[in-house]
Amino acid sequence: MLTVNSIKRGIVIDHIESGNGLKIFEKLKLADVEFPVVLLMNVPSEKLGKKDIIKIQDEIDLDLTMLGLIDPNITINIIEDDKIIEKKKVELPKKVKGLFKCDNPRCISNSDNYAVPTFTLVDKEKVKYKCSYCDDFTYL
Ligand SMILES: [Zn+2]
Repeated sequence: MLTVNSIKRGIVIDHIESGNGLKIFEKLKLADVEFPVVLLMNVPSEKLGKKDIIKIQDEIDLDLTMLGLIDPNITINIIEDDKIIEKKKVELPKKVKGLFKCDNPRCISNSDNYAVPTFTLVDKEKVKYKCSYCDDFTYL
């Protein structure tokens, strides 16, 4: 059985859908940090069947908007003295600026460097966003 020491102080990102752990690991650039980090993949989970977990033994700023985009079902546990002192939920962001591109190849945000792609969530189930520049829809 695989065991990983619990962390005294830091962050545990839990209930990551299996496969998304690596994406989050890369987005947070955790391969480059100096403090201990662990990525656990395919951990048995009652809720999800299988899940990924990331443990970070330090406090870092998490971009909750970005995390919500990758996986809106994750739980973020803030740990201090071996105990969870705070639980944070993420959700699909209603407004997104600059985190992905517009699907419309003719959209000005794809050609103008100063036009930061900006979107509004219009359908949560389908993860459908509307572009503020061209009004086209982008699915993630
Ligand atoms: Zn657009």
